[in-house]
Amino acid sequence: MTPQYDLDFDAAGEELQAPEPPASELLVPHLQLPKVSRNLTVKRAQQELVEGVKEGVKCQCCGKLAKVYRRKLNAGMAKALIILTHLSKLPVVSDEAGFVASADLFKTLGGQHRDWYLLAHWGLIERGTPTRSKTREGAGTWRPTFDGRMFVEKHANVARYAVLYDGVLIGYEGELVSVVDALGDRFDYSELMSWGGA
Ligand SMILES: [Zn+2]
Repeated sequence: MTPQYDLDFDAAGEELQAPEPPASELLVPHLQLPKVSRNLTVKRAQQELVEGVKEGVKCQCCGKLAKVYRRKLNAGMAKALIILTHLSKLPVVSDEAGFVASADLFKTLGGQHRDWYLLAHWGLIERGTPTRSKTREGAGTWRPTFDGRMFVEKHANVARYAVLYDGVLIGYEGELVSVVDALGDRFDYSELMSWGGA
């Protein structure tokens, strides 16, 4: 079937060019979709998905793996948050609002701990400029939130795990942990706090 495109009209009522079909549409006929039994209702398929999603289950509609992921607030993330807090106070690196370019944080961390941007799921960091980039999830500028600074200063604890489905936060699990718990044996809290002579 040839895809149909509605013509867009701008505010002045002028006719705009119909867009080129995106490359992905050309591949659509080649999708390998699961065979569906005639009696399977969408409701039943969703029920089975919900039942299996903790361990991972193939969606009976699209064939994709549906799985809930638990992401741990690990030692590298806790370190990254402390470093971001320092950088956020440095006028040479941060802007007036304390936002730091992810590249500068990345450089300071020495290329380790690539999953630091997941701290946003605990509400510990926030992004400055919104970005549409889905491939580079840490792109843009970042700063610690108020909660993030409280966590760094040992005034607040957070749940050990963030639970994600399809990249979206659906809840928290595990015991409450402090920044020192999260750093564990890998990094020394006082050493990180005095980073750069701060
Ligand atoms: Zn599906």
